[in-house]
Amino acid sequence: MSPVSAPAPQVIVIGGGLAGCSVAWHLASTHRVLLLEQGDHPGGEATAQNAGMLRTMGEDPTERALALRTQAWMEQQASGALAEDFPQSVSTRTGAVLALAHDPAHLTDAVAHLRARGEHLEALSEPAHIAPILSGARLAQAWYQPSARIVDPYALNQGFLAGLRRMGGQLRAGVQAVDVAPGQVTLAGGEVLAAEHVVLATGAWSAQLSARMGIRRSFVPIRRALMHSGPHPLSSPAHPWTWIDDVGVYARPESGGWLMSACDERLDYPAPGPGSQSTVPEATRALLSDKLQRYLPALADARPAGGWTGLRTFAPDRRPALGPDPERAGIWWAAGLGGFGVSCSVGVGQALAAWIRGEQTPWLHAGSVNPGRAHPSRWLIRPDGDLRHAKLASSWPE
Ligand SMILES: Cc1cc2nc3c(=O)[nH]c(=O)nc-3n(C[C@H](O)[C@H](O)[C@H](O)COP(=O)(O)OP(=O)(O)OC[C@H]3O[C@@H](n4cnc5c(N)ncnc54)[C@H](O)[C@@H]3O)c2cc1C
Repeated sequence: MSPVSAPAPQVIVIGGGLAGCSVAWHLASTHRVLLLEQGDHPGGEATAQNAGMLRTMGEDPTERALALRTQAWMEQQASGALAEDFPQSVSTRTGAVLALAHDPAHLTDAVAHLRARGEHLEALSEPAHIAPILSGARLAQAWYQPSARIVDPYALNQGFLAGLRRMGGQLRAGVQAVDVAPGQVTLAGGEVLAAEHVVLATGAWSAQLSARMGIRRSFVPIRRALMHSGPHPLSSPAHPWTWIDDVGVYARPESGGWLMSACDERLDYPAPGPGSQSTVPEATRALLSDKLQRYLPALADARPAGGWTGLRTFAPDRRPALGPDPERAGIWWAAGLGGFGVSCSVGVGQALAAWIRGEQTPWLHAGSVNPGRAHPSRWLIRPDGDLRHAKLASSWPE
């Protein structure tokens, strides 16, 4: 008896991080979806390396539009909807304080946008009353957003995968796509798979894959560290996650201590194949200690102990690259999700699924995230997360 083979997929999604899994989950009710992941299991790269903060108050309006969709979905999910695939809540409402040390107007556009969308935002005159770690901090402005959440990216990805299986979709892990052309994907080893649509949700490997395809799409992987403190007296699960945005330092409560970042940034292209996580260099620990002393003195005694670094991958304008590739019919991008891929995860899946189905997204202007949009050939990088230290670099992968 010949083996019963699964029907050919209509959509192949490459990349089992939050972007790929969200797209797969959102499409699986109408399309036969095959999800490919080069690692032994999905969700092992940037999706496993982040701080989980769902930030709707971003600088870019497309990022905010996508994050607002994710936040609305999280609220629905937390109320018990979608229990078939997500039996437990995958996020916690903690609130957030977005503060500014120097430039009080830095988030004014974001505040206006979010307020117009009905978000409750408070300008804090005594930020330490809401976020005790801001005690003693010299601030030009502080915004409190009670609706902000922390997401469990692992649980979210697992739910997407459970739903994909429930709806008849398939996952193949441990397979690397090495070439993509309209209608087909070639795997390392030579196997060729066919599908009408191919979605590239390949995170830090996106520039490599586009170069193999003979098109130049600019994706720049930037390494950033997250560090744990040991137990700390100010830590409590109810403390809002707190970010001093213009100087680049943040902390969120974690296991009785803090998960913290100095918002360091270092250009770093990954080798082909899985494995983008790395250890924290001593200089980055020193940078965090210095920023804590200067900007979060209440955490000056929170010694960075463990930690890791991971890759956040941006298009040069730091806006996501979503939608059809203008030079390759049937190939779609869900990439360039930088430091906001948790925040935008659900919105990204909703947008790609709508467009592949031929539907419109009145909440997101497709042209503004067009993967073929023009970019400068130089990249504006903030080497230590401080806007004032921004400089231009011009490195590209070979
Ligand atoms: C230190 C740090 C802190 C962060 N904090 C936050 C935060 O607080 N809030 C927030 O919103 N975001 C945050 N992020 C960003 C967020 O984690 C990412 O934007 C998001 O995980 C990107 O998801 P992705 O699916 O695009 O990429 P990934 O999770 O990297 O997934 C891409 C997948 O594609 C696979 N792949 C690549 N190429 C191939 C191929 N050729 N064949 C098969 N498989 C392939 C990879 O193995 C990988 O699993 C942070 C990131 C880091 C590193």
